Amino acid sequence: MSPAPADLVDVELLATERAHLDAAYPIASLSRLTESLADDGGAARASFRFYRVSGRPALDGTVDAEVTLLCQRCLTAMRLPIEGRLELVFVASEAEAAGELPEGLEPALAPHGKASLAAVVEDELLLSLPLVAKHADPAQCARAAGPERVAAESAAAARREESVQRPFADLKDRLKS
Ligand SMILES: [Zn+2]
Repeated sequence: MSPAPADLVDVELLATERAHLDAAYPIASLSRLTESLADDGGAARASFRFYRVSGRPALDGTVDAEVTLLCQRCLTAMRLPIEGRLELVFVASEAEAAGELPEGLEPALAPHGKASLAAVVEDELLLSLPLVAKHADPAQCARAAGPERVAAESAAAARREESVQRPFADLKDRLKS
């Protein structure tokens, strides 16, 4: 994950200013997310509220988008609204992430006080994708599932599991062991 420098924001400054930001990110610009989608149209909307907790910059926010996934029952495209909640505390290093952090907040790396909000949004959307996308009602499916589609479903689920790994989700556990 190497965001373009222009994408990096100064979370120290935003937290000091208690800034509120609204932003939109074209789905097509979120390349890790589009790998799991059937279509890269549309945009993700995000709302951020920065504050400080225990001296560290922190972020409370929401993310939502409507994405196009392939229904794994009938293999036709389906639109699905997804949304997520951001409750992050920024840390300067992995060592700091392993230390004492405010309860309920997920550590996010911000080396030198800079972080990529697009990466934060993309991580959250990846976590919000269903492991296996299916039309809510089987009657919406174009055709009933056959044996070859069951195989396609398992393969797609395995691929999605690989892609839905938040970079820092298990950071604390990894560093403790
Ligand atoms: Zn379907």
